Amino acid sequence: MNYCPKCDIVIRGDKICCPLCQGKTAEPPEGKFIPEMAGIEAFPVIERRISTVTVIRLATFLFLTLEISFGAVCWLLGPESHWAGIVMLGIFVGWLDILVLRYLRSNILKLLTVEFYVAIAVNIYVDKMTNMHGWSLAWVTPFVLLATGLTTLIVAYVTRLRPSEYVTYIVFDTVMALLQFIPIRAGLNPVVLPAIIIAAFYLVLMAGVVVFQYNDLKAALGRRFNF
Ligand SMILES: [Zn+2]
Repeated sequence: MNYCPKCDIVIRGDKICCPLCQGKTAEPPEGKFIPEMAGIEAFPVIERRISTVTVIRLATFLFLTLEISFGAVCWLLGPESHWAGIVMLGIFVGWLDILVLRYLRSNILKLLTVEFYVAIAVNIYVDKMTNMHGWSLAWVTPFVLLATGLTTLIVAYVTRLRPSEYVTYIVFDTVMALLQFIPIRAGLNPVVLPAIIIAAFYLVLMAGVVVFQYNDLKAALGRRFNF
């Protein structure tokens, strides 16, 4: 009962009266194309354009924040942080290619998330090649995952993204944060506290998404995985 024979329109959901003519609705006739049934949304989802200047400012701000916080971590760790140079160089390279890729107009959040995941992989690889002291799992991975989460929230806020445009990234990051328990189980992570704090941070974030943005989450995941 979502079809008005008089206006020849299909209404969302089950309604007794047509909102246009107040006439009685009926079952849609056989063979009538109903966008809702075909999984097509009623209104178009408009991509928001973000200005290049905003993105470059954002990237530069994040770059400075990362280098400063990372510098602070190194200072706290003292001589143990011989790997710091590689990470700081990595952050610098990440910032540079954001500037370059921005001109190719890609999705900034996707780009940053990929950059961060690549940074994690590269660091674990470097750690493995240098006798696997575990610094990549103990410090770099939780730190980069924290940066990824903060980046997602900052980009979402500054560029006024709709929840359905960024919740998927929070889901991916939560999965990444929980994957940290694999090396912990295997005894490869010498300092587990940062990893556990980050995993808890993401579970809380995820709980917030599920509780407050359930419909956006469902819509976003449905669009991505087609269910
Ligand atoms: Zn009508």
